[in-house]
Amino acid sequence: MKAALFKNAQEPLQAGEIEAPAPQADEVLIDIKACGICGTDVHIAKEGSIPTAFTPIALGHEPAGVIAGLGSAVSNWHLGDRVACYPAAFCGQCPACENGREGLCFKSEIFGIGRHGAMAEQMAAPARCLVKLPDSISFEVGAILTDAVSTPYHAVVRRAQLVAGESVVIIGCGGLGSQAVRFCKLFGAARIIAVDRNSAALEAAEKAGATDVILAGDEPANKLVKTLTAGTGVDVAFEFVGASRTIDTAVRCLRRGGRAVVVGIGTEKIQLPAVRTFVGNEYELRGSMGLDLQDLKDVVALVEAGKLQLDGTTHGISINAVDSALVLLQQGRAEHARYVVTV
Ligand SMILES: [Zn+2]
Ligand SMILES: [Zn+2]
Repeated sequence: MKAALFKNAQEPLQAGEIEAPAPQADEVLIDIKACGICGTDVHIAKEGSIPTAFTPIALGHEPAGVIAGLGSAVSNWHLGDRVACYPAAFCGQCPACENGREGLCFKSEIFGIGRHGAMAEQMAAPARCLVKLPDSISFEVGAILTDAVSTPYHAVVRRAQLVAGESVVIIGCGGLGSQAVRFCKLFGAARIIAVDRNSAALEAAEKAGATDVILAGDEPANKLVKTLTAGTGVDVAFEFVGASRTIDTAVRCLRRGGRAVVVGIGTEKIQLPAVRTFVGNEYELRGSMGLDLQDLKDVVALVEAGKLQLDGTTHGISINAVDSALVLLQQGRAEHARYVVTV
């Protein structure tokens, strides 16, 4: 079958042939209809900063499709069911999985990193990773729900536990950050301040529901946030960059008792204020890693109910065009909010 195959970061990603997967007893075979492309794929295939378990490997961890085969132990799914698939094969048995915290599973194998992914005609996945995709949701939208939409949902709803009427700042308004703006609006944030160094990203954030925008520049963003909030600061600061400096800014934006939620991933050390400042203000700093299975179910329900409008945010491309899309993403020249491989 045809797949977008990653060999090494020095070579362009190419379409090639691999053997079609055979599902294990607890797995299903999915005819892939759509697979989202995201920054993680750039890290793997262009920067070489995320090693894969083996090569060549079919890339892609944002799968949506139709069930085309059932393992012998699978009884709750049927051939032809439309599904979205969690981005990783979590184990279902470790303490994290038992608590519904699949994002923290110790034995998780991410599709397209730990095992073959979804930029391919077919993919095998454990049945426990599937969520039913209603007829009203397209496969392209279903694909981006699995990570690009669920990850900011997890940050806003599960990790920040946003309460209606609160004020928030969102630092880094790329794909995930601008989606976080939508969720903050949906869940009733009274004030949504978007910070980015790219004015086009701020325009998109404003369309998504930001009440104020700050173009990151010479003046520290936290000072401008304090000015906008009459010196108080915000209840919640989201950081979608993954850098020491922007995490520092996030904490400095907080009101007393506020919480900072870090979604960005990076390798720098986090710098915190002096102990007496951190404790004296009862600041909180929380990490937010990907999503849990329930988050994916929740966003599917929100889209089905018409609470979240995502049509027009995806742009379909073929398996042959994945490399050019990755180059555009890497260079920050992407013209579409979300590229989706349609198979
Ligand atoms: Zn992704
Ligand atoms: Zn597990």
